[in-house]
Amino acid sequence: MSQAEWRNWSGWVTARPEVFHRPKTEEELAGLIVKSDGPVRVAGSGHSFTPICESDGALFSLENMSGLISTDREANTARVFAGSTIRDLGPLLHEQGLGLINQGDIDRQAIAGAVGTGTHGTGKALKSISAAVVGFRLVTPSGDIINCSADENADVFHAGRVSMGSLGIMTEIELHCAPAYALEERGGRLPVADLFDTLDSLRDDNRHFEFFWFPFADDVLVKTLNISDVQPKPRKRAPDGHDGPADIAFRKLCEISRFAPFLRGRFQRQMTEQGGSRYAGDAPGRSRWSHDAFPSDRNVRFNEMEYAVPAEHGPDCVREVAEHMRSCGVNFLFPIEYRYVAADDAWLSPFFERDSVTISIHQYHKQAYAALFRGVEQIFQKYGGRPHWGKLHTLVADDLQALYPRWDDFCAVRHRLDPDAKMLNPFLRKVFGVA
Ligand SMILES: Cc1cc2nc3c(=O)[nH]c(=O)nc-3n(C[C@H](O)[C@H](O)[C@H](O)COP(=O)(O)OP(=O)(O)OC[C@H]3O[C@@H](n4cnc5c(N)ncnc54)[C@H](O)[C@@H]3O)c2cc1C
Repeated sequence: MSQAEWRNWSGWVTARPEVFHRPKTEEELAGLIVKSDGPVRVAGSGHSFTPICESDGALFSLENMSGLISTDREANTARVFAGSTIRDLGPLLHEQGLGLINQGDIDRQAIAGAVGTGTHGTGKALKSISAAVVGFRLVTPSGDIINCSADENADVFHAGRVSMGSLGIMTEIELHCAPAYALEERGGRLPVADLFDTLDSLRDDNRHFEFFWFPFADDVLVKTLNISDVQPKPRKRAPDGHDGPADIAFRKLCEISRFAPFLRGRFQRQMTEQGGSRYAGDAPGRSRWSHDAFPSDRNVRFNEMEYAVPAEHGPDCVREVAEHMRSCGVNFLFPIEYRYVAADDAWLSPFFERDSVTISIHQYHKQAYAALFRGVEQIFQKYGGRPHWGKLHTLVADDLQALYPRWDDFCAVRHRLDPDAKMLNPFLRKVFGVA
């Protein structure tokens, strides 16, 4: 028995589970899940902003079920334990001549946590991490251990890739990978008007393109990553949570501006100016192996909302979001982030059958986010946006059913595997409309 407190990364979600299980094998996990009273939740590395992992019953961690199981170089696939962090997988896959096809901003997530919420990077032709899943093993709430793929338990496969741990606990995941590759990073500033004039070519001409926009600045910060032939230099990673000079400086600005809101515009322009010279796209950047190139260190904590909107609405939506943030009177310092994700076929993927743009907004973790996020969420909803499952939103079952064509199919699979809703906590009960 334990009453130790569990916290998510931003610190806004806390839980005191009755029991905290860290099984070492699938059989042990199956035995424990059968015996556990609800709510039974499983946490990855706690980087979701919503209370999806929160439990006052049983909380599982798969931190003892981590590592690479096997690879198939011909098929470019890797089977990994579900508790592996993306950061740990990088070098392990690289030694086998493989790399993940795409990654997000950070690599601290457990792979099952990233898969479970539709975590994504950016790239017009590239899908989410969940879409790279070719199969997984699942321990169901009744303790059965099943293989799921397009050919075996296909309905659980289609429902389960993006399912927020609501169908059971994944123990192994097979991922489609790419032969090991290096990426060259380039970046710089662009005036807002120039950005929108060249947005389509920036999207089409780069494997990965995204921009960050401090709404009070006249320029945006552009970042691109493209396949590189240049021999990459290994990256020295700071230990988890270690502050670099940029973190220290940014945190200082956050602390000052939360008490002196009138400085936020000046600070936002200043941070944009520090983002380098005008982006030309032809100045050589640094090359790194993919697993070293994707992640940034994010040590200044924040809360975040992100929606995926149909790709064609991205530019109008982000302009409206920026205008709202400038005029709404709420104090904030963080930029808007704008990325591309290709359509996939996981039933609850925010990118289900829809090429998308994701737009995210952030608030420093010591500042209230509700007023800022509420206003922006209305804009996202106007454009038919679907929320990131790991980031803050206020939607409930009726709203979500209208956004997801396979919602009812998902709910039928969930009900079949977990008729007593043992895997649902109060937050997920609202999401799935279960009393
Ligand atoms: C600083 C920061 C940067 C981020 N950057 C990005 C980004 O670039 N792109 C993006 O899309 N998102 C991003 N996110 C969001 C993050 O990727 C997701 O919230 C992700 O789910 C977190 O992974 P985790 O391992 O922490 O999972 P958790 O938050 O711990 O859990 C997420 C979900 O996965 C489920 N789960 C965990 N393990 C299992 C398992 N073994 N079997 C079944 N279900 C399981 C949990 O029950 C939960 O529902 C970021 C978050 C932070 C804090």
